[in-house]
Parts: sequence; structure tokens; C-alpha cells
Amino acid sequence: MMTKNEQIRQTLRNTSLKRKTQTVKVFELKVDCHHTSKEDFKKLSGLFREAKWIQNDVIASKDIFHYEYKDHRTVLNFDKNHNVVERKLTIQTGIHQNIIKHVQTDIMNLSKAKSKGRHVGRLKFRKECNCIPLKTGMLKIISSKRVSIPMFRNIAVYGLEQFINIPGYEVANANIIRKASGYYIKVTVYIPKENVRTDTGKTVGLDFGIKDNITTSDGEKYNCSVQEDDHFKFLQRKLAKKQKGSKRYYRCLCQIKRAYEHQVNKRDDDSNKLLSYLLKTYDIIYFQDEQISQWKKFNKGFARNIQHSYMGRIKARLIELEKSGRSFEISRWVPTTKACPVCGSINTGITLNDRIYKCDCGYEFDRDIHAARNVKLFGSTKRAECSERTSADRLVNTSLLVKTGNAANSLVEAKIKAACL
Ligand SMILES: [Zn+2]
Repeated sequence: MMTKNEQIRQTLRNTSLKRKTQTVKVFELKVDCHHTSKEDFKKLSGLFREAKWIQNDVIASKDIFHYEYKDHRTVLNFDKNHNVVERKLTIQTGIHQNIIKHVQTDIMNLSKAKSKGRHVGRLKFRKECNCIPLKTGMLKIISSKRVSIPMFRNIAVYGLEQFINIPGYEVANANIIRKASGYYIKVTVYIPKENVRTDTGKTVGLDFGIKDNITTSDGEKYNCSVQEDDHFKFLQRKLAKKQKGSKRYYRCLCQIKRAYEHQVNKRDDDSNKLLSYLLKTYDIIYFQDEQISQWKKFNKGFARNIQHSYMGRIKARLIELEKSGRSFEISRWVPTTKACPVCGSINTGITLNDRIYKCDCGYEFDRDIHAARNVKLFGSTKRAECSERTSADRLVNTSLLVKTGNAANSLVEAKIKAACL
């Protein structure tokens, strides 16, 4: 007979073995407003109100880490006219405990950030709460269109078809989210790993620019900005005319939030599509570490264009992918635009208005494609170098490259010549 501890250890071991064959994904479900009663929606908004009360009560208490949910089934707070009111909680105790734990982890994360040397303020009272955490096992799937969560036995949602047909899926924890466009449930799901991708044998270099946002070394150009539409601008003008604090002001504000959410979704969708295309077509993506947010300062005329583009999003995703070896970053000091790939000389005279790169040796090419090709060239030589060294050496090397920009240039210059011969 196994003891209880051994049994637990065994189950943990089995789970970790199982997780190796699975990937984790987060799916978003939307609460269906046509098949959910008004009472349920009232209950949902009440849930978020009570969550806010609990959070503020925890933050106000003297000893947050010994805050017991049993002693606080009624909380004190202020109403509109600053009178102290006693509120009785109707929230399910499981969710109550989760919310308390959530605040406690927030404080621990703040202290961790502080110990790393980041400047942090203290935990402030919340104006609104838009996220309620649910533990594993709290969300159950009833049918292809309905789920059950604590306090709601049967709730209709959109979007279950995203994972319900995958054999062997496992539902883990979830979050109930409130947005301007409605209520959502974000579910973490473990699904079996897909078949390993077959290599296409192609690599690509990316050049980030202001006029053509992303140019690939194969000559494809993508415009990455999603502009504000007319309706959004109209709403902003409308809000300016409303009296602040009035009912109409808040109604208009809600419309703006919804329009803004729509735009963020559009931007997310476009960037996901572009990245998935690149990852499908190419084995390795080379890119340069450029400070896109800094461009606004020097190129005032294009500030709006940069503000609404999703270049930064794509760069952040590429940095994440570096760990798995699908992308490779080169230092921002490498002269990708200035270097000539034929003779290896550095032409410093090129300005932003020169759309065609010209070298004294007779080489001429479209500026952006030329830069993207250089990114690919520099990246592949650097990557071959790095694969020889250990990862620790690699960190030292890149920091050296940053410090001695000019010395590195001549080194790279020699490499170009070697590569072209
Ligand atoms: Zn040249």
C-alpha cells in the first residue's frame, strides 16, 4: 500500500509526463446575449461589483496575508454620498477565496519587481474590477454551446467550437472578463501537440521602416498601420461636447471604449495573420533590434502612422520566438542600410528620402529590400558563429558589439566580402 504522500507524488509525476505531450492555449468565449436572461446579466454585473468590494476590503485590511474569507462575508464601504454602508456578500465562497488570493499574488509580484530594482508604488484601491479568476474544475462544458460556472448553472457562449472537436483536450483554469462589448470567459486548455512542422528550407530577413512598414528580403512589402476610422473620430468629437459626469457622457464613453476595442481586435488579427504566414513559409526569420517607439521623436510627420502600426507587436512576438530558434535578432548597431553587399563599403550619405540605394561600385537597389537582404546576410553569418559558442559567450559577445560599434563594423565588413566571394 502506498502512503498518501507517495500517491500525491505519483499523480504529480504522471501529470508532468502527460504535459510534455501537450501544448497550452488560451481560448476566448463570449457570453451569448441572445440566449442569456436579463437576470443572469444582472447577476454577472453584481458579481463584478462584489469582486471590487472584496478587493478593496482586502487592500484596506491591516494584515493582508492573514485575511480569511470566513470573517469577511460582510464588507464596509462608502456609497455615493460618502456614508459608510454594510454590504452582505452573495458571491460563491470559492470565487471569494480566489479573488483574495489574486490580490495577495499582486502584492508578491510587486515586491519581486521591487527586489529586481524596478520602481513600484503601493497597491491602490480599485476603481473597477474587470477580471474574476476561476480555478481548475470550476468551469465545466455541458454541450457544444453551453458551459457551467459557479453561480451560473447553465450559460450560453459563443466560441466553444474552437477546441471542443479536438480529441483529448483538457480544460484548466479560466477567467471571467468584462469588456465594453460584453462578458467573456478566457479558458486555458491543454491540447495534444500537433505534428511537427516540415522545414521549407527558406529563410527571410525583415526590415522595419516608416514608409513601408515591413519589407522582406524576397521583396514583399506590408503596410502595418490600422488607422482610426471615421466613426471613432466622430465619437471623440461628440464626447468633447458632453458635460463631464452626466449620463450622456458615460454613454458616449462606453461607445468609444467599444469602438477602441474593435480597433485593437483588428490590429491583433492582422498581426497574427502576417506572422503566421511568415512562420509557415520560412524556417528562420532574421530581424534587427530597432527602437520603433523612438522613431516618433525624430520623424514628426509620420508619428501618427507609427502610433497606429503593429510593428512593435510583431517585434515582441519575434523576440519570444527566439527561444525556440525560429527567429534571430541582430544588434541595432549593425549598418544594414549603409553597407553595400557587393563591395562591402559603408555609405553614410543615405537619407530617409533616398528610396534607392546607390553605391560607387555601380550597385543599385530598392532601399528597403536591400536592407532586408542585408539583415538576412548579417543574421545568417552571426547565427552560424553563435551556434559554435555556448549561450553564455553569446551574451557577452552581443554586449561587446553594442559597446564597440565601429570596431564591429569593420569586422562585419570583412564578413560581407567573404560571404559574397
Ligand atoms: Zn558597393
